[in-house]
Amino acid sequence: MPEGDAVVRTARRLDRVLQGRTLTATDFRVPRFAVADLSGGLVTGTHTRGKHLLTRIELPDRQWTLHTHLKMEGSWRDFAPGQRWSKPWHTARVVLTTAERVAVGFSLGVVELLPRDREESVTDHLGPDVLGDDWDAAEAVRRLSDLPADLDVRDALLEQRCLAGVGTMWAAEALFATRVHPRTPVGEVADLEAVVTKAQELMAKAVRRRPTTTYVYGRRGQPCPRCRTPIRTAKTGPLGKERPAYWCPVCQAEPRDS
Ligand SMILES: [Zn+2]
Repeated sequence: MPEGDAVVRTARRLDRVLQGRTLTATDFRVPRFAVADLSGGLVTGTHTRGKHLLTRIELPDRQWTLHTHLKMEGSWRDFAPGQRWSKPWHTARVVLTTAERVAVGFSLGVVELLPRDREESVTDHLGPDVLGDDWDAAEAVRRLSDLPADLDVRDALLEQRCLAGVGTMWAAEALFATRVHPRTPVGEVADLEAVVTKAQELMAKAVRRRPTTTYVYGRRGQPCPRCRTPIRTAKTGPLGKERPAYWCPVCQAEPRDS
């Protein structure tokens, strides 16, 4: 699943293609907005909040926000007019056409058109945005501390209402960097602020630099970069929402009673 850094890069790509341009045609391939037509709209920019993309489109009589979320499989791509799309036609959920480019959102998990003045209703439940201007590590820690103290810290880091933008990859990397086992109860982590600060640092760096390097995520059985012990993985998390965790069994000591 794309995490906050990938979402920011997607927004920048959409800005390169759409910002300051007028839409000559729009196609929303979701039942609720199938008849919506924002052609003639001026795209003023795409903003992010955690993993949410908010594309602002101005028409003479009304200002709109197109809210999209990549969820598991989604992506935005852009093409020259008439160019063959790199993904199947039937997976397109939104098509925004300008005179120069066609931006297509494929397999998007959320597609929603909102009046601009209701834009915040989409994101006001979120915690501080790891990559936002208003990032606030202390507030993220305060929200994490409100969770049940026995919740695994890895799962706590995925709670978007505590801090927005982190997914399984950056949770794994931040916990490795701070030597915290992913199954440590969140209430027992000695320095949660160090963990969320590390997640922020790693993700801010990942926005600037490609490709992304990971030390544990996706590296099952490969040697730990610190101690050479093979990296372990397991699916952990609440029933029905299990997601892969990766850790070094030496650098990240098991919590005492597990
Ligand atoms: Zn190690």
